[in-house]
Amino acid sequence: MARNHKWLIMNETQCNSENVERAADILVNAHHAIAFTGAGISTESGIPDFRGPQGLWRQYNPEIATIDYFLQHPKEFWLFYRMRLSTLFTAKPNRAHIALAELEKMGIIKTIITQNIDGLHQAAGSNNVIELHGTMRRAVCLACGHTYPMDAVIKKIDSGQVPPLCDGCGGILKPDTVLFGESVKDFERARELALMSDAVLVVGSSLSVYPAAYIPLFVKEMGGKVIIVNMEPTELDYIADVIIQCKAGDAMSLLLDAVKKKLSMK
Ligand SMILES: [Zn+2]
Repeated sequence: MARNHKWLIMNETQCNSENVERAADILVNAHHAIAFTGAGISTESGIPDFRGPQGLWRQYNPEIATIDYFLQHPKEFWLFYRMRLSTLFTAKPNRAHIALAELEKMGIIKTIITQNIDGLHQAAGSNNVIELHGTMRRAVCLACGHTYPMDAVIKKIDSGQVPPLCDGCGGILKPDTVLFGESVKDFERARELALMSDAVLVVGSSLSVYPAAYIPLFVKEMGGKVIIVNMEPTELDYIADVIIQCKAGDAMSLLLDAVKKKLSMK
């Protein structure tokens, strides 16, 4: 019986409108709300969830995404990475990214903390974005720290320079993303923001990757509210005040409408 029940919930495609209303109430009444996003927000843009059922790591050995592999085999790494970049440059922000950008413009969401490296929040118009795992839109020289836009790096690769090298010092370029074995970026800033927030809107994260998943925990610890929008149950459902279990695009469109309605009534 319990199993059947879980199966039904996991296949639920309609967003629960009562929960959307409750989430909108939390956001409208918050003094400092932040968003925390993961791969699930970008799947509707056609970017595969690397850890999900269709994830790339099921087809490739995850060792290739470690810093050790990169340092030992930069050429093989870049040839693999170049394939991934094709998806990135055709991907467009979806309704969920756009709704979050609008919530930021309305002053409802102050900052987005993301685990994603696809740059789609910025493409949707969000300005305050902390990218805990870095960005695929840039590469960095390991020797001098100079950064290059990824399209310039792609030109180097496609003209036969593999691995791509720094124009200034000749050092090897690395995608400005956090590889396995490297520490996350800007975590202290994200932590401080979470600790001063009274609400967090989680979108499209299974909340299973640490330290990123500490962010909603910090908000909860300080007495803030936690809203989770995700297709599947997450590891931190037990701390959530509201759970909206449906597609990120559907949920975020409904949530944006509900927030607008509440603001107009205030
Ligand atoms: Zn350099």
